[in-house]
Amino acid sequence: MTDAKKAIVIGAGFGGLALAIRLQAAGVQTTLLEKRDKPGGRAYVYHDEGFTFDAGPTVITDPTAIEALFTLAGRQIADYVELLPVAPFYRLCWEDGSRFDYANDQADLDRQIAQFNPRDVAGYQRFLSYSKAVFREGYLKLGAVPFLSFRDMIQAGPQLARLEAWRSVYSKVSSFIEDDKLRQAFSFHSLLVGGNPFATSSIYTLIHALEREWGVWFPKGGTGALVNGLVKLFEDIGGRLELNADVASIETAGERATGVRLADGRHFDADCVASNADVVHTYAKLLGGHPRGKQESARLKRKRFSNSLFVIHFGLKRPQPQLQHHTVCFGPRYQALIQEIFKGQALAEDFSLYLHAPCVTDPSLAPPGCSSHYVLSPVPHLGNAPIDWAVEGPRYRDRIFDYLEKHYIPGLREDLVTCRIFTPNDFEGELNAHLGSAFSLEPILTQSAWFRPHNRDATLRNVYLVGAGTHPGAGVPGVIGSATATAGLMLEDLHR
Ligand SMILES: Cc1cc2nc3c(=O)[nH]c(=O)nc-3n(C[C@H](O)[C@H](O)[C@H](O)COP(=O)(O)OP(=O)(O)OC[C@H]3O[C@@H](n4cnc5c(N)ncnc54)[C@H](O)[C@@H]3O)c2cc1C
Repeated sequence: MTDAKKAIVIGAGFGGLALAIRLQAAGVQTTLLEKRDKPGGRAYVYHDEGFTFDAGPTVITDPTAIEALFTLAGRQIADYVELLPVAPFYRLCWEDGSRFDYANDQADLDRQIAQFNPRDVAGYQRFLSYSKAVFREGYLKLGAVPFLSFRDMIQAGPQLARLEAWRSVYSKVSSFIEDDKLRQAFSFHSLLVGGNPFATSSIYTLIHALEREWGVWFPKGGTGALVNGLVKLFEDIGGRLELNADVASIETAGERATGVRLADGRHFDADCVASNADVVHTYAKLLGGHPRGKQESARLKRKRFSNSLFVIHFGLKRPQPQLQHHTVCFGPRYQALIQEIFKGQALAEDFSLYLHAPCVTDPSLAPPGCSSHYVLSPVPHLGNAPIDWAVEGPRYRDRIFDYLEKHYIPGLREDLVTCRIFTPNDFEGELNAHLGSAFSLEPILTQSAWFRPHNRDATLRNVYLVGAGTHPGAGVPGVIGSATATAGLMLEDLHR
């Protein structure tokens, strides 16, 4: 009987929360242990001087996966959180002043594409059909099932071959679209989940179809309101969340986990343990006392990790009506800059930025008449570029502010009320992220599906992974999908 069984989930990111809800809803007594003082992980929230700043995910896609968590627990999402539509999905801007409002309206898209290159209107239609086919195979069929054996991979092989999954996102987009800026506009999406569009599998073009299918959303009150809604759901159905609960080790007896021990000495027994923490941290530190932890962490450390991010959260004393909710600010270089972000050993001179202006959708995130923002710059992880961010951070912030003042927010510094930065060092220190990577293992084909750390460990049969480091990978829909895959395995194993 599962109702007597106890599960522990380490880490309250979206993946950990979704898994904990699935387990608790199935009758497993679930305890969620989070090291920080608030849940959310990358989706942490800061409150400064009346401003609310979401730290991480802001582009919320696939609302059906979120809604499913409420439905399976017998609740209505509307009683917990309201999702507001975002239109346009994004505004894409280049330094020469050209821009593209990426909206879910075909006629509007066609008109804008034609302004860049009339031939690309037909090319875009072919790209969309391709992206929809990948979405059906890669997301709807395989996005929430575990890849535990190589046979699972072989079974998916013919579809992956047919869709030319070995080609990169950019190469595939370029086979349909001629214009340089439109190639950027339809290939940058993989960066949202830590994928280099020039190296990551063309499977990641599915993000385009996913956005077209279900839209782009923003929770009323910010992404943190969605985190709070999920926490409330978990607690309403009997789950227990412990904050400030820094897990120091997963305890084992032979090849089974027996529970966890916290840094403050507290011990929790469990029939099974799932980790939503970084995968290298999980094996190297939490399972460091077991031979399996040593062996697997050594193997994982040889893998390629995604880039890091430099994030500035800032509040202004004026609204910014010239901005849309999401703006991608392309710099002077695309391919060369991205290669430097993924492989470079220093900070590039130029940058491409993502600028968040949530008050466009929900003014309550700032005091009346003000606006809250964040801007992020993708930067190399600490393994490639061991930058001293304590020194470089303030300088880099100033360079980014200069750029924003010139191109997007005139008078930014004059209007500045509050400002904080989050650097690769913080990803490493606050989130235990290996090399300060923002998205865990880089989602290249040879590190995806069966090649990614499995949702259930191969040796320790009651230890599981959930979140960005396991299948299918990073991004809110990805980690919620990983929770579905992992919960399926855990419930099957507990029922055995
Ligand atoms: C700035 C930024 C912007 C992003 N924007 C988007 C976006 O717009 N849309 C999108 O879909 N995705 C976006 N992403 C990606 C997405 O946020 C992540 O892939 C996803 O949230 C990761 O979720 P996760 O379940 O893997 O857990 P995480 O969020 O990584 O959470 C893991 C949790 O484990 C905790 N933990 C670690 N070690 C321990 C320990 N020893 N004991 C206890 N707890 C521990 C951590 O404190 C953390 O709370 C963004 C990411 C970043 C960083």
